[in-house]
Amino acid sequence: MNLESKIVHIGINSDKKTGAISTPIYNTASFAHPALGKSTGFDYTRSKNPTRQVVEDGIALLENGSDGFAFSSGMAAITTVLMLYKTGDHIILADDCYGGTYRLFNKLFTNYGISFSVVDTSSAKLTAAAIKENTKAIFIETPTNPMMKITDIAALAGICKEHNMQLIVDNTFLTPYFQRPLELGADIVVHSGTKYLAGHNDLLCGVIVTRENTIGEKIRFLQNATGNMLSPNDSWLLIRGLKTLGLRMEKHNENAGKIAKWLSTQPHITNVYYPGLLTHPGKKIHDKQASGCGGIISFAVDDAARVPQILSRVKFIQFAESLGGVESLITFPACQTHMDIPLKIRQQLGITDKLLRLSVGIENSQDIIDDLQQALQ
Ligand SMILES: *Cc1c(COP(=O)(O)O)cnc(C)c1O
Repeated sequence: MNLESKIVHIGINSDKKTGAISTPIYNTASFAHPALGKSTGFDYTRSKNPTRQVVEDGIALLENGSDGFAFSSGMAAITTVLMLYKTGDHIILADDCYGGTYRLFNKLFTNYGISFSVVDTSSAKLTAAAIKENTKAIFIETPTNPMMKITDIAALAGICKEHNMQLIVDNTFLTPYFQRPLELGADIVVHSGTKYLAGHNDLLCGVIVTRENTIGEKIRFLQNATGNMLSPNDSWLLIRGLKTLGLRMEKHNENAGKIAKWLSTQPHITNVYYPGLLTHPGKKIHDKQASGCGGIISFAVDDAARVPQILSRVKFIQFAESLGGVESLITFPACQTHMDIPLKIRQQLGITDKLLRLSVGIENSQDIIDDLQQALQ
Protein backbone atom coordinates (compact mmCIF):
# COMPACT_ATOMS: atom_id res chain seq x y z
CA MET A 1 0.00 0.00 0.00
CA ASN A 2 1.24 3.51 -0.75
CA LEU A 3 1.98 5.83 2.14
CA GLU A 4 -0.90 8.18 1.33
CA SER A 5 -3.31 5.24 1.54
CA LYS A 6 -1.73 3.87 4.72
CA ILE A 7 -2.29 7.28 6.33
CA VAL A 8 -5.99 7.31 5.51
CA HIS A 9 -6.45 3.72 6.68
CA ILE A 10 -5.04 4.22 10.18
CA GLY A 11 -7.53 2.70 12.60
CA ILE A 12 -9.84 1.14 10.04
CA ASN A 13 -11.11 -2.17 11.43
CA SER A 14 -9.72 -1.42 14.86
CA ASP A 15 -13.10 -2.33 16.36
CA LYS A 16 -13.89 -5.73 14.86
CA LYS A 17 -17.07 -6.13 16.91
CA THR A 18 -18.98 -3.22 15.36
CA GLY A 19 -16.96 -2.50 12.24
CA ALA A 20 -16.80 1.18 13.16
CA ILE A 21 -14.91 3.10 10.47
CA SER A 22 -13.76 5.80 12.88
CA THR A 23 -11.72 4.54 15.84
CA PRO A 24 -13.79 4.40 19.06
CA ILE A 25 -12.56 6.48 22.00
CA TYR A 26 -11.94 4.17 24.95
CA ASN A 27 -12.44 6.57 27.82
CA THR A 28 -11.56 4.15 30.55
CA ALA A 29 -8.79 4.16 33.12
CA SER A 30 -9.03 0.45 33.84
CA PHE A 31 -10.04 -2.84 32.17
CA ALA A 32 -11.64 -5.83 33.91
CA HIS A 33 -9.61 -9.04 34.04
CA PRO A 34 -11.37 -12.12 32.57
CA ALA A 35 -9.90 -14.30 35.35
CA LEU A 36 -7.01 -14.43 37.78
CA GLY A 37 -3.77 -14.17 35.83
CA LYS A 38 -5.69 -13.39 32.62
CA SER A 39 -5.86 -10.13 30.67
CA THR A 40 -7.73 -8.87 27.61
CA GLY A 41 -4.39 -7.35 26.61
CA PHE A 42 -5.44 -4.16 28.35
CA ASP A 43 -5.18 -3.60 32.10
CA TYR A 44 -4.70 0.08 32.83
CA THR A 45 -4.66 3.01 30.40
CA ARG A 46 -1.25 4.29 31.50
CA SER A 47 0.23 1.02 30.19
CA LYS A 48 -1.95 0.54 27.13
CA ASN A 49 -5.21 1.88 25.74
CA PRO A 50 -6.94 0.73 22.52
CA THR A 51 -7.40 4.24 21.09
CA ARG A 52 -3.81 5.22 21.84
CA GLN A 53 -2.61 1.93 20.44
CA VAL A 54 -4.21 2.70 17.08
CA VAL A 55 -2.33 5.95 16.75
CA GLU A 56 0.91 4.45 18.09
CA ASP A 57 0.79 1.55 15.60
CA GLY A 58 -0.21 4.01 12.88
CA ILE A 59 2.72 6.35 13.37
CA ALA A 60 5.14 3.41 13.59
CA LEU A 61 3.80 2.22 10.23
CA LEU A 62 4.25 5.66 8.64
CA GLU A 63 7.80 6.13 9.95
CA ASN A 64 8.59 2.50 9.09
CA GLY A 65 9.73 1.72 12.62
CA SER A 66 9.36 -1.14 15.09
CA ASP A 67 7.38 0.65 17.80
CA GLY A 68 5.41 3.88 18.09
CA PHE A 69 4.49 5.87 21.19
CA ALA A 70 2.20 8.85 21.74
CA PHE A 71 2.83 11.47 24.42
CA SER A 72 1.07 14.49 25.86
CA SER A 73 3.35 16.91 23.99
CA GLY A 74 6.45 17.04 21.86
CA MET A 75 8.48 18.04 24.91
CA ALA A 76 7.12 15.02 26.82
CA ALA A 77 8.31 12.79 23.96
CA ILE A 78 11.77 14.40 23.85
CA THR A 79 12.07 14.21 27.66
CA THR A 80 11.32 10.49 27.46
CA VAL A 81 14.01 9.95 24.82
CA LEU A 82 16.57 11.76 26.98
CA MET A 83 15.66 9.52 29.92
CA LEU A 84 17.35 6.69 28.00
CA TYR A 85 20.66 8.28 29.08
CA LYS A 86 22.48 8.32 32.39
CA THR A 87 24.72 10.47 34.55
CA GLY A 88 28.11 10.76 32.85
CA ASP A 89 26.72 10.45 29.31
CA HIS A 90 27.33 13.12 26.69
CA ILE A 91 25.04 14.02 23.79
CA ILE A 92 25.70 16.11 20.67
CA LEU A 93 22.88 18.55 19.95
CA ALA A 94 22.27 20.34 16.64
CA ASP A 95 23.09 24.00 17.11
CA ASP A 96 19.92 25.38 15.56
CA CYS A 97 17.21 23.37 17.27
CA TYR A 98 13.83 24.14 18.78
CA GLY A 99 14.33 26.45 21.80
CA GLY A 100 12.46 24.12 24.16
CA THR A 101 14.77 21.25 23.27
CA TYR A 102 17.82 23.36 24.03
CA ARG A 103 16.24 24.43 27.33
CA LEU A 104 15.61 20.81 28.28
CA PHE A 105 19.26 19.89 27.70
CA ASN A 106 20.64 23.07 29.23
CA LYS A 107 18.43 23.65 32.26
CA LEU A 108 17.15 20.20 33.16
CA PHE A 109 19.25 17.23 32.06
CA THR A 110 22.54 18.88 33.02
CA ASN A 111 21.18 18.72 36.61
CA TYR A 112 21.28 14.95 36.26
CA GLY A 113 24.85 14.87 34.98
CA ILE A 114 24.09 14.51 31.27
CA SER A 115 26.37 16.88 29.39
CA PHE A 116 25.94 18.11 25.85
CA SER A 117 27.77 19.97 23.09
CA VAL A 118 26.06 22.26 20.64
CA VAL A 119 27.40 21.50 17.16
CA ASP A 120 26.66 22.54 13.59
CA THR A 121 25.54 19.07 12.52
CA SER A 122 25.12 20.20 8.91
CA SER A 123 28.87 19.48 8.85
CA ALA A 124 29.55 15.77 9.36
CA LYS A 125 33.19 16.68 9.95
CA LEU A 126 32.43 19.07 12.83
CA THR A 127 30.02 16.53 14.27
CA ALA A 128 32.55 13.69 14.20
CA ALA A 129 35.15 15.98 15.78
CA ALA A 130 32.81 16.66 18.72
CA ILE A 131 32.52 12.99 19.72
CA LYS A 132 33.96 12.24 23.14
CA GLU A 133 34.60 8.95 24.88
CA ASN A 134 31.26 9.23 26.70
CA THR A 135 29.16 10.47 23.75
CA LYS A 136 26.07 8.28 23.49
CA ALA A 137 23.84 10.05 20.98
CA ILE A 138 23.44 12.79 18.38
CA PHE A 139 20.18 14.74 18.39
CA ILE A 140 19.30 16.60 15.21
CA GLU A 141 16.55 18.38 13.33
CA THR A 142 16.63 18.65 9.54
CA PRO A 143 15.58 21.19 8.40
CA THR A 144 16.41 23.00 11.63
CA ASN A 145 14.11 25.38 13.44
CA PRO A 146 14.23 28.23 12.44
CA MET A 147 17.26 28.55 10.12
CA MET A 148 16.25 25.59 7.90
CA LYS A 149 19.76 24.11 7.88
CA ILE A 150 20.08 20.63 6.45
CA THR A 151 21.92 17.72 8.04
CA ASP A 152 22.83 14.56 6.13
CA ILE A 153 20.90 11.88 8.04
CA ALA A 154 22.59 8.87 6.42
CA ALA A 155 26.08 10.31 6.98
CA LEU A 156 25.40 10.90 10.67
CA ALA A 157 23.75 7.49 11.02
CA GLY A 158 27.00 6.00 9.70
CA ILE A 159 29.05 7.94 12.26
CA CYS A 160 26.71 6.81 15.04
CA LYS A 161 26.93 3.18 14.01
CA GLU A 162 30.71 3.34 13.96
CA HIS A 163 30.82 4.74 17.51
CA ASN A 164 27.97 2.70 18.94
CA MET A 165 25.83 5.81 19.48
CA GLN A 166 22.21 6.56 18.67
CA LEU A 167 21.00 9.04 16.08
CA ILE A 168 17.83 10.80 17.22
CA VAL A 169 15.95 12.87 14.63
CA ASP A 170 13.23 15.40 15.40
CA ASN A 171 11.15 14.95 12.24
CA THR A 172 8.48 17.53 13.10
CA PHE A 173 9.06 19.81 10.10
CA LEU A 174 8.70 17.26 7.31
CA THR A 175 6.76 14.34 8.81
CA PRO A 176 7.08 10.78 7.44
CA TYR A 177 5.13 11.97 4.41
CA PHE A 178 8.28 13.72 3.13
CA GLN A 179 11.15 12.21 5.14
CA ARG A 180 11.65 8.90 6.97
CA PRO A 181 14.88 9.07 9.00
CA LEU A 182 14.65 5.47 10.27
CA GLU A 183 14.95 4.23 6.67
CA LEU A 184 18.18 6.25 6.43
CA GLY A 185 19.66 4.59 9.51
CA ALA A 186 18.48 6.83 12.37
CA ASP A 187 17.60 4.98 15.58
CA ILE A 188 14.85 7.13 17.03
CA VAL A 189 12.42 9.64 15.53
CA VAL A 190 10.58 12.17 17.68
CA HIS A 191 7.86 14.62 16.74
CA SER A 192 5.96 17.48 18.10
CA GLY A 193 2.73 15.95 16.83
CA THR A 194 1.16 19.27 17.79
CA LYS A 195 2.40 20.56 14.45
CA TYR A 196 1.85 18.78 11.11
CA LEU A 197 0.81 15.34 12.39
CA ALA A 198 -2.24 16.69 14.21
CA GLY A 199 -2.27 19.64 11.83
CA HIS A 200 -5.13 21.80 13.05
CA ASN A 201 -3.67 23.93 15.87
CA ASP A 202 -6.13 22.28 18.25
CA LEU A 203 -4.07 19.66 20.07
CA LEU A 204 -0.78 19.17 21.91
CA CYS A 205 0.88 15.80 21.39
CA GLY A 206 4.22 14.13 20.83
CA VAL A 207 5.43 10.98 19.18
CA ILE A 208 8.40 8.62 19.36
CA VAL A 209 9.14 5.89 16.83
CA THR A 210 12.07 3.49 17.18
CA ARG A 211 13.83 1.55 14.45
CA GLU A 212 14.46 -1.48 16.61
CA ASN A 213 12.36 -3.13 19.24
CA THR A 214 15.23 -3.20 21.80
CA ILE A 215 15.05 0.59 22.15
CA GLY A 216 11.28 0.40 21.69
CA GLU A 217 10.96 -1.72 24.84
CA LYS A 218 13.00 0.81 26.81
CA ILE A 219 10.70 3.61 25.64
CA ARG A 220 7.65 1.48 26.54
CA PHE A 221 9.05 1.06 30.05
CA LEU A 222 9.67 4.81 30.38
CA GLN A 223 6.25 5.77 29.05
CA ASN A 224 4.53 3.50 31.55
CA ALA A 225 6.91 4.37 34.40
CA THR A 226 6.57 8.13 34.02
CA GLY A 227 2.98 8.46 32.80
CA ASN A 228 3.40 11.16 30.16
CA MET A 229 1.27 9.47 27.49
CA LEU A 230 -1.48 10.89 25.29
CA SER A 231 -5.06 10.61 26.57
CA PRO A 232 -7.67 8.52 24.68
CA ASN A 233 -9.56 11.67 23.59
CA ASP A 234 -6.44 13.35 22.30
CA SER A 235 -5.31 10.11 20.64
CA TRP A 236 -8.54 10.20 18.68
CA LEU A 237 -7.97 13.83 17.67
CA LEU A 238 -4.50 12.88 16.44
CA ILE A 239 -5.90 9.98 14.40
CA ARG A 240 -8.51 12.35 12.98
CA GLY A 241 -5.85 14.90 12.08
CA LEU A 242 -3.48 12.33 10.58
CA LYS A 243 -6.03 11.12 8.03
CA THR A 244 -5.45 14.21 5.88
CA LEU A 245 -1.66 14.43 6.42
CA GLY A 246 -0.91 13.62 2.78
CA LEU A 247 -3.24 16.24 1.34
CA ARG A 248 -2.16 18.86 3.82
CA MET A 249 1.58 18.29 3.30
CA GLU A 250 1.17 18.55 -0.49
CA LYS A 251 -0.62 21.86 -0.13
CA HIS A 252 1.77 23.27 2.52
CA ASN A 253 4.65 22.33 0.23
CA GLU A 254 3.10 23.81 -2.90
CA ASN A 255 2.15 27.06 -1.14
CA ALA A 256 5.51 27.44 0.60
CA GLY A 257 7.38 26.89 -2.67
CA LYS A 258 5.46 29.75 -4.32
CA ILE A 259 5.75 32.06 -1.33
CA ALA A 260 9.48 31.43 -0.84
CA LYS A 261 10.08 32.38 -4.48
CA TRP A 262 7.94 35.49 -4.13
CA LEU A 263 9.67 36.54 -0.89
CA SER A 264 13.05 36.20 -2.65
CA THR A 265 12.03 38.94 -5.10
CA GLN A 266 10.96 41.46 -2.44
CA PRO A 267 13.16 44.55 -1.97
CA HIS A 268 12.93 44.69 1.85
CA ILE A 269 13.81 41.02 2.30
CA THR A 270 17.50 40.22 2.50
CA ASN A 271 17.42 36.45 3.00
CA VAL A 272 14.93 33.64 2.52
CA TYR A 273 15.62 30.27 4.16
CA TYR A 274 13.74 27.44 2.46
CA PRO A 275 15.27 24.18 1.18
CA GLY A 276 13.15 24.37 -1.97
CA LEU A 277 15.09 27.40 -3.22
CA LEU A 278 17.97 26.74 -5.60
CA THR A 279 20.10 29.11 -3.50
CA HIS A 280 19.72 26.98 -0.34
CA PRO A 281 23.15 25.57 0.61
CA GLY A 282 21.69 22.27 1.84
CA LYS A 283 19.42 21.67 -1.14
CA LYS A 284 21.40 18.78 -2.63
CA ILE A 285 21.45 16.79 0.60
CA HIS A 286 17.84 17.68 1.32
CA ASP A 287 16.69 16.41 -2.08
CA LYS A 288 18.59 13.17 -1.49
CA GLN A 289 16.80 12.39 1.77
CA ALA A 290 13.37 14.04 1.50
CA SER A 291 10.63 14.12 -1.12
CA GLY A 292 9.29 17.58 -0.23
CA CYS A 293 10.33 20.80 1.51
CA GLY A 294 7.39 21.36 3.84
CA GLY A 295 5.69 24.60 4.81
CA ILE A 296 8.15 26.52 6.98
CA ILE A 297 9.98 29.54 5.61
CA SER A 298 12.23 31.84 7.61
CA PHE A 299 13.20 35.21 6.21
CA ALA A 300 15.24 38.22 7.24
CA VAL A 301 14.20 41.82 6.59
CA ASP A 302 16.52 44.76 5.91
CA ASP A 303 15.64 46.70 9.04
CA ALA A 304 14.69 45.46 12.54
CA ALA A 305 12.01 48.19 12.67
CA ARG A 306 10.17 46.35 9.92
CA VAL A 307 9.54 43.35 12.19
CA PRO A 308 6.99 45.00 14.52
CA GLN A 309 5.46 46.67 11.46
CA ILE A 310 4.88 43.33 9.72
CA LEU A 311 3.62 41.65 12.87
CA SER A 312 1.09 44.41 13.52
CA ARG A 313 -0.04 44.72 9.89
CA VAL A 314 -0.69 41.09 8.98
CA LYS A 315 -4.43 40.50 8.92
CA PHE A 316 -4.95 37.16 7.26
CA ILE A 317 -1.80 35.52 8.65
CA GLN A 318 -2.00 35.17 12.42
CA PHE A 319 0.81 36.42 14.64
CA ALA A 320 1.14 33.37 16.86
CA GLU A 321 3.61 30.75 18.03
CA SER A 322 3.56 27.18 16.76
CA LEU A 323 3.53 25.90 13.19
CA GLY A 324 2.29 23.12 10.99
CA GLY A 325 -1.43 23.80 11.22
CA VAL A 326 -3.85 24.52 8.40
CA GLU A 327 -3.84 28.24 9.25
CA SER A 328 -0.84 30.41 8.30
CA LEU A 329 1.06 31.72 11.34
CA ILE A 330 3.99 34.10 11.66
CA THR A 331 6.41 34.29 14.63
CA PHE A 332 9.42 36.23 15.76
CA PRO A 333 11.82 33.46 16.93
CA ALA A 334 14.30 35.70 18.81
CA CYS A 335 11.58 36.78 21.26
CA GLN A 336 9.31 33.76 21.18
CA THR A 337 10.22 30.19 20.30
CA HIS A 338 14.00 30.62 20.72
CA MET A 339 14.29 33.03 23.64
CA ASP A 340 15.92 30.37 25.81
CA ILE A 341 18.88 30.06 23.46
CA PRO A 342 21.74 32.31 24.64
CA LEU A 343 22.04 35.57 22.67
CA LYS A 344 25.53 34.74 21.46
CA ILE A 345 24.48 31.42 19.92
CA ARG A 346 21.35 33.01 18.45
CA GLN A 347 23.37 35.73 16.74
CA GLN A 348 25.90 33.25 15.39
CA LEU A 349 23.05 31.27 13.88
CA GLY A 350 21.23 34.25 12.41
CA ILE A 351 18.28 34.23 14.82
CA THR A 352 18.38 38.01 14.99
CA ASP A 353 15.89 40.83 15.51
CA LYS A 354 15.39 40.87 11.73
CA LEU A 355 14.31 37.24 11.37
CA LEU A 356 10.72 36.05 11.03
CA ARG A 357 9.40 32.52 10.66
CA LEU A 358 6.35 31.84 8.57
CA SER A 359 4.33 28.65 8.86
CA VAL A 360 2.53 28.54 5.54
CA GLY A 361 -0.99 27.16 5.88
CA ILE A 362 -3.21 25.50 3.31
CA GLU A 363 -5.13 28.62 2.31
CA ASN A 364 -4.95 29.99 -1.23
CA SER A 365 -1.33 31.05 -1.73
CA GLN A 366 -2.31 34.36 -3.36
CA ASP A 367 -4.17 35.43 -0.23
CA ILE A 368 -1.05 34.75 1.85
CA ILE A 369 1.12 36.70 -0.61
CA ASP A 370 -1.36 39.61 -0.68
CA ASP A 371 -1.27 39.82 3.10
CA LEU A 372 2.54 39.76 3.21
CA GLN A 373 2.71 42.38 0.47
CA GLN A 374 0.52 44.90 2.28
CA ALA A 375 2.40 44.19 5.55
CA LEU A 376 5.78 44.79 3.90
CA GLN A 377 4.93 48.10 2.24
C1 LIG B 1 7.07 22.63 18.76
C2 LIG B 1 8.27 21.81 18.63
C3 LIG B 1 8.68 20.98 19.70
C4 LIG B 1 7.94 20.94 21.02
O1 LIG B 1 6.69 20.30 20.90
P1 LIG B 1 5.41 20.62 21.82
O2 LIG B 1 4.35 19.78 21.21
O3 LIG B 1 5.16 22.09 21.71
O4 LIG B 1 5.76 20.22 23.20
C5 LIG B 1 9.79 20.19 19.48
N1 LIG B 1 10.48 20.21 18.32
C6 LIG B 1 10.10 21.00 17.29
C7 LIG B 1 10.89 20.98 16.02
C8 LIG B 1 9.00 21.84 17.42
O5 LIG B 1 8.66 22.63 16.40
